[in-house]
Amino acid sequence: MKTTIIGYPRIGGLRELKFASEKYFRGEISADELEKTAKDIRSYDLKLQKDSGLDIIPSGDFSYYDGVLDTAFLLGAVPERYTKLGLTELDTYFAAARGYQGEKGDVKALAMKKWYNTNYHYMVPEIDDSTEIKLCGTRPFDLFSEALENGVKTKPVIVGGYTFLKLARYTGKKTAADVAEETAKIYSEILKRFAELGAEWVQFDEPSLVKDMTAEDIALFEQIYSKVLEDKHGVKVLIQTYFGDVRDCYDELAALDCDGIGLDFVEGKKSLELVKTKGFPKGKVLFAGVVNGKNIWRNHYAKTIGMIGELKKQAEDIVLGTSCSLLHVPCTLDNESKLSDSIKKHFAYAKEKLGELEELKNILAADKPEDTEEFKKNTALHSEVREGANAAVREKVAALTEKDFVRLPAFAEREKIQKERFKLPLFPTTTIGSFPQTADVKAARTALRKGELAQADYEKFIEKKIAECVALQEEIGLDVPVHGEYERNDMVEYFGECLDGYIFTEKAWVQSYGTRCVKPPVVWGDISRARPMTVRWSKYAQSLTDKPMKGMLTGPVTILNWSFPREDISLKESVFQIAQAIREEVLDLEANGISIIQVDEAALREKLPLRKSDWREDYLDWAIPAFRYVHSGVKPETQIHTHMCYSEFADIIKDIDDMDADVITFEASRSDLTILDVLKENDFRTEVGPGVYDIHSPRVPSEEEIKSALDKMLGRISADKLWVNPDCGLKTRGVAETVPSLKNLVAAAKRLREENSKA
Ligand code: GLN
Ligand code: ZN
Repeated sequence: MKTTIIGYPRIGGLRELKFASEKYFRGEISADELEKTAKDIRSYDLKLQKDSGLDIIPSGDFSYYDGVLDTAFLLGAVPERYTKLGLTELDTYFAAARGYQGEKGDVKALAMKKWYNTNYHYMVPEIDDSTEIKLCGTRPFDLFSEALENGVKTKPVIVGGYTFLKLARYTGKKTAADVAEETAKIYSEILKRFAELGAEWVQFDEPSLVKDMTAEDIALFEQIYSKVLEDKHGVKVLIQTYFGDVRDCYDELAALDCDGIGLDFVEGKKSLELVKTKGFPKGKVLFAGVVNGKNIWRNHYAKTIGMIGELKKQAEDIVLGTSCSLLHVPCTLDNESKLSDSIKKHFAYAKEKLGELEELKNILAADKPEDTEEFKKNTALHSEVREGANAAVREKVAALTEKDFVRLPAFAEREKIQKERFKLPLFPTTTIGSFPQTADVKAARTALRKGELAQADYEKFIEKKIAECVALQEEIGLDVPVHGEYERNDMVEYFGECLDGYIFTEKAWVQSYGTRCVKPPVVWGDISRARPMTVRWSKYAQSLTDKPMKGMLTGPVTILNWSFPREDISLKESVFQIAQAIREEVLDLEANGISIIQVDEAALREKLPLRKSDWREDYLDWAIPAFRYVHSGVKPETQIHTHMCYSEFADIIKDIDDMDADVITFEASRSDLTILDVLKENDFRTEVGPGVYDIHSPRVPSEEEIKSALDKMLGRISADKLWVNPDCGLKTRGVAETVPSLKNLVAAAKRLREENSKA
């Protein structure tokens, strides 16, 4: 049996590509120097993959910014506003990726969107009526040739035609169907070029096939591939899917004249069943994604080998692989110098996953797989009782019943009680929590970490910042102040550090978009609250003001979604454990005199399953209860807020309302406010603070502008339910724009109040 991977991380083990790119953007190094770094990363990774015994090594998985953007450039689907700048090819590419502002013009970047259900983001290609799909540039061919010169005949990887056309935005009259034919022709030309260069396999990535597909989608897919595969020019074509199963188009996929089909047996919950019940087409190679490309745990060989046994009954030729590109995991454990061996032995990052594929191959080649050393070692590892088990936590979660998820009294009654208690003016003003993380705050944290600042002095410093922040909010006239979140570096990491069961890595960076990487913490064991997390700061802040100080926490779903989750227990069980810990903090805040508590669920929407039919059972059925459990124990007069960094929840509007918060704030300033109509149509009962200005830009919104946004909102939300706030936390903003922006916000709210009290 052979092995392959779908793609490898390209940022470099120590984020070399990120740092080089950023230097290039700042004009500190030349394009040649950047290219040199990129080439070094590629040749290092090529050698690594070769040395680890990988049989089919990908090329073209490298990218300076994003693979979808690379494909757009290859197909000539690049808006004229970028090409007409007259920049070099590389700079035109970066202009589309990041925007351009300089002597040649001023253009915004292409839109960026989340890549399926991952934390990676791709650049959205634009197709307008003048777009002419044609083969442009030579990058994938060059990368193939480069590897060939290094002695490896690689498998070129390109985003497939169907997925590309599904991801594109159509800004004119043309639709995907209108350009399908010409697009397919170019893919066929691509095959021809690879054939001339001597490629054996070409991989077309088609993750869009795991989404819900309509009859038109299936027709589009068939239209493209019947054309592409008409003449393969002698190369073998692999249609690679990932992030789920292809239940909507398995038959059509199997009937195509391709040579290999790649299926995901990790996330594709129906993949095995599809192959077992429908069989696998004769003469084709099954690329079986069995090693998880999205998580960092060691593969469970006994389970994997059992599954391969099932697949072998249907498919005569199987290539072992990863479930998706390794882009979504960090590069290598070699750089983790602080984790103990007892922890590390449970982990496999990208490089270690290559080792796993090699081991699986060897085990499968043995007469008695169970007797091989590798198999025994792996089985022993998985039968170990993981350190970090906490029986009390598990028992508590197991004992939860319906009433633990219900806050009493019901919303309407609480709303009355709270209005009575807080006596806030109409259109109360507040912020989302963080205030500018100025250089002194970051410097103090660094000094503390390096041991240059004593813990007590650091805490004094934070108190001083809080006091200044509260005084500033009093001066500005905000009705519900916050403490400013100066103690946090990050909204998940900070809480993770106060929880038992979490592990933090040193170098486990994963690309989020372009040069931005994130370092998700790991849910290692059972989660419990090690100590109060925010109580002292909120309590201190409350002591400085008579206004209700809003406490600020991150919610369980967001904490889980931005971590590497466990695989030995369900997500549901994990999220309830985290919810249990956050609930303790909520109750502790309440007991310490905090009367308004915000629990942020910034990432709630991120892990919605790709198929609508899976939303409820696989996600919302535990995500929403987890949030409810966090606050179901507070008194009726305690007000619970939540915040989300987006407003695309039209399709889960009932679920959002069902979180049963008292107030929700969300992003609205950049959207067209249609969400407000949806709220109205659905009788949304939670009070709402649709962000009145965009904090992602340093622009100061005028009072006029905010007032007119509020007027529009008031047409759709009843006056007693409307809050006034920015659309997200202010931590990335400077003080210079924050203060006038908030002053204008308060002034606009006051004017609205006056108008409404007269009316
Ligand atoms: N409370 C957090 C803040 O204000 C929320 C951040 C977020 O929504 N991403 O920074
Ligand atoms: Zn936000």
